[in-house]
Amino acid sequence: MRRKKTIIPFAYDLGQDDLKRERSKARELRDSQWWKRRLAKGACHYCGRSTLPKELTMDHIVPVSRGGKSTKGNVVPCCKECNNAKKQLLPMEWEQYLKKFDPTYS
Ligand SMILES: [Zn+2]
Repeated sequence: MRRKKTIIPFAYDLGQDDLKRERSKARELRDSQWWKRRLAKGACHYCGRSTLPKELTMDHIVPVSRGGKSTKGNVVPCCKECNNAKKQLLPMEWEQYLKKFDPTYS
């Protein structure tokens, strides 16, 4: 007899515990020397504009609410402008936004 494959209808339907865990990991990362060094560079990951370290925020490239993890590969320093834009825009619009800063991207 063949086993029925379990289909998860909402792949991004994370449990509250997962969200909590990733958020607390993000807090730990924020306190790390690694993150402080990234901030000290004073540049936004997305637009590349120089930004004061205190005005940079931690952004998850893949949001925690979408299954993103709080790992060094998924968090970047981000200026307020990009952070706001990323929250408001749809993924497609966000790509358009990023293209403005990268002339080699077509
Ligand atoms: Zn920016």
